[in-house]
Amino acid sequence: MSDRPVRVRFAPSPTGPLHIGGVRTALYNYLFAKQNKGKFLLRIEDTDQKRFVEGAEDYINKSLAWLGMPIDEGVHEGGNFGPYKQSERMGTYAAYADQLIQAGHAYYAFDTPDELNEMRAKLEANKMSAKYDATSRMSMRNSLTLSEDEVKDRLDNGDKYIVRIKLPRNEEIRFHDEIRGWIVFNSSQLDDKVLLKEDGLPTYHLANIVDDHLMEISHVIRGEEWLPSAPLHVMLYKYLGWKDTMPKFAHLPLILKPDGKGKLSKRDGDRLGFPVFPLEWKSPEGEISSGYRESGYMPEAVVNMLAMLGWHPSDNQELFTMEELIKTFSLEKVSKSGAKFDMDKAKWYNHHYLMNASGAALRAMVDGQVTDVHTSQGEDYLLEVLEILKEKVSFAGEILPLGQYFFAPPAEYDEKVQRKKWKDEVPGHINDYINGLVEGNKTTASDMEDHLEVYANEKGIGKGMLMQPLRWVVSGQAGGPPIFEMLALIGLAEIAKRLEIVNEKF
Ligand code: GLU
Repeated sequence: MSDRPVRVRFAPSPTGPLHIGGVRTALYNYLFAKQNKGKFLLRIEDTDQKRFVEGAEDYINKSLAWLGMPIDEGVHEGGNFGPYKQSERMGTYAAYADQLIQAGHAYYAFDTPDELNEMRAKLEANKMSAKYDATSRMSMRNSLTLSEDEVKDRLDNGDKYIVRIKLPRNEEIRFHDEIRGWIVFNSSQLDDKVLLKEDGLPTYHLANIVDDHLMEISHVIRGEEWLPSAPLHVMLYKYLGWKDTMPKFAHLPLILKPDGKGKLSKRDGDRLGFPVFPLEWKSPEGEISSGYRESGYMPEAVVNMLAMLGWHPSDNQELFTMEELIKTFSLEKVSKSGAKFDMDKAKWYNHHYLMNASGAALRAMVDGQVTDVHTSQGEDYLLEVLEILKEKVSFAGEILPLGQYFFAPPAEYDEKVQRKKWKDEVPGHINDYINGLVEGNKTTASDMEDHLEVYANEKGIGKGMLMQPLRWVVSGQAGGPPIFEMLALIGLAEIAKRLEIVNEKF
């Protein structure tokens, strides 16, 4: 690594909600910055006003905050390299386009849309790629083909123009990618990209390079979809005379659909029922897309899951806190090939973090669902219910609906259990066993367990014959948390009451 201070940026365009692929890009930038005691910048790339979406910038900030990635320099945080929003830097870029024109690395193009269409049609008819490039530009209307006087006249007249980069024909462009190694393009694969648009505003390419340079960005860590733009960017660094301080590049692999090929899209999420956005998003048209937060995911789980989509540590460790990720993450261990999104794994991560959550954190997660019924036996009782049931669920929001019977007699009794297990001598044994608990005042889980052992031995029956019916009498269900813990929590008086209900009902 160079000795330059590490400064990385996440540079989203506020064109809609941030996809989890973008979140992962932000995360890898954040981890890399923190690991290297560097700075994590958020730069809003809003040069394309046509694609601007109201609320998208706010959404980006809220998403990063929810996931625990504080920004060192940005629109709200400030910093010495601002402004951090490109629409507030519009006065910055034209001078660099001029510099390129003066040096012969860019040119004015005056072609009308009709002329451009004509060129494309002609090239396509000749089975050539329809590019404005070293070959085709010499037959177009630009400052390379027009006389100096005519160019001057046009500019003085205020004729419309754009500025294009002038790329060489058939030249090798090489650069190193921290993940992919050496990458070689031929300049003939590229076209003379527009740098300055008709309205005098920069395109993404020019603004991005100028800003990365001025903001002293040391590493550009971004999605694979930008790899085809990288040779153009390398040429811009070279032509602007900034080659020595060009950032290092790292192009991250795509996040792929869980099934089939291709990039994970919002449609896959809708189709398969999982969110592809960190937070719920309501589009300006009112369309709602689900978010990880609203679906009950904990931010720690989303961070861990995303970190593992494309990065593999040397061993098989899968569970990492943010702190551990900061210590362990490395660009060298990011894979070149795409990472398949795995919905079950996402739930698995959430379950893990739920199991590790404190009582207070769990309580906060279910707060919106808590009613008087849940608190009628006190907060401690509620906390114990959350604790005993958390291992049964992927999401905190599933606990209270699952644990209805902790707060009131079962609303329903699983008929299958009744049909299969509640017959012949079983009800008699259950009655005797429960009466034995009440008479002996056996209130702890271990007392209740011991008593079943004693009872079964005395009667010469297997304990197994009584376990499920016992659970069913109390909860109405076939499965649940460890049975004696459940019984002890519900308490003897309530157990006796539930036995009466069952005796009346069945
Ligand atoms: N604004 C670009 C985006 O939306 C940034 C790409 C880059 O990081 O260079 O992803």
